[in-house]
Amino acid sequence: MSRFTASGTSATRGTATRRTLLKTLGVAAAAAALVPIRRVAAADAPHLEVKDPAAVAVGYVEKAAQVDLKKYPAYIKGSTCENCLLLQGSSGPHYRPCNLFPGKTVSVDGWCSGWSAEI
Ligand code: SF4
Repeated sequence: MSRFTASGTSATRGTATRRTLLKTLGVAAAAAALVPIRRVAAADAPHLEVKDPAAVAVGYVEKAAQVDLKKYPAYIKGSTCENCLLLQGSSGPHYRPCNLFPGKTVSVDGWCSGWSAEI
């Protein structure tokens, strides 16, 4: 009787362990499959509109040449989103995600007062 219980418990543990492993692998595979989709989604996010209140608050412009120098005298010539620390993604696309505007993309030629030099 005790022999049955011991082997039954062991078998149950073995099954549970295999089930747990398979579940974990399934979750990991599903998560890995979603990563490329999230990257594509970030690159395809809507462009930040210059009239968006969040953009207006930091003086975002689509071309750095349009920066209002009276309003932003600290603007450093040559600074753009492309050389900003907060720009995300790989070089290539003209619009890329920015940490300052989650869910939106900004023009690599743009600028805002949140600009931070790349390290
Ligand atoms: Fe561009 Fe940097 Fe401003 Fe984002 S924080 S909009 S990348 S200048």
